[in-house]
Amino acid sequence: MRTSTAVDLVARAGGVMRRAHLLAHGATVADIRRAVRADAFERLREGVLALPGADPMVKEAAVHGGSVACASALHRLGVWLWDDEARLHVWLGTSGRRHPHPGCRCVTHHDAGTSAFGVVSIVQALVQVASCLGDEVFFAAFESAWRKGMIDRAQRAEVRAGLRAGQRRLVDLARPDADSGLESILRLRLSRLGIRLECQVRIPGVGIVDFLLDGRIILETDGRANHDGLVMRHKDLRRDALAAARGFETLRFDYALVLHEWHLVEAAILARRARAHGGPHA
Ligand SMILES: [Zn+2]
Ligand SMILES: [Zn+2]
Repeated sequence: MRTSTAVDLVARAGGVMRRAHLLAHGATVADIRRAVRADAFERLREGVLALPGADPMVKEAAVHGGSVACASALHRLGVWLWDDEARLHVWLGTSGRRHPHPGCRCVTHHDAGTSAFGVVSIVQALVQVASCLGDEVFFAAFESAWRKGMIDRAQRAEVRAGLRAGQRRLVDLARPDADSGLESILRLRLSRLGIRLECQVRIPGVGIVDFLLDGRIILETDGRANHDGLVMRHKDLRRDALAAARGFETLRFDYALVLHEWHLVEAAILARRARAHGGPHA
């Protein structure tokens, strides 16, 4: 087999291939040796070859023994992730073996199936995130993928079917119109307190607000990176004044508050709500 033909084969497989597969496709041991000598292939580990220009993350996962998975696969697609998960998540299939390598901090996944090299599907990655990183990370990632048009109805049903029974309600609670991951987290946490919110509500004279609670309390999340400019601050203040003039109360929370001081966010919402209902703080 000519080196260019072998290179084509590996390229079509995503840039990484088992030596055994290449042999099964008709390459000889001598062909492979010649290609390695010509730097057309690199040996990632015993029996695994890669194109030198192959995706570095795919190569590292192959060194570890499988394919890019879970949070790492979603991160590549641009799906929003609630925590900065820097480790490489690798799917080895049901019985794949982990191969030790220098500097390994990989998170190994062993969910059912036979792993190849490359990147798992978005459906599999979402299901993996649910079991690996929990309800909140999954929920925000699922809404983000939906919002970005990355998962259609059939794929959403597939994700739901892949979750353990206790997590399926998360798919039922999800919406395609959450404006940011922060909104997703806020909505999920309040739903656990039994609080249901109206989302993306248009209030005449004010505009579209993130959430409306009890028809009277506006919740706004500030998950935008460039939100601390003076112009934005003025706009927010003006919006709050417009809302107040119409009898609404506004609470604003940013990423840091929701992430690090949730108890404060929760206390603020519950107290406002109690007052609105003529509770002890009325
Ligand atoms: Zn994982
Ligand atoms: Zn590793």
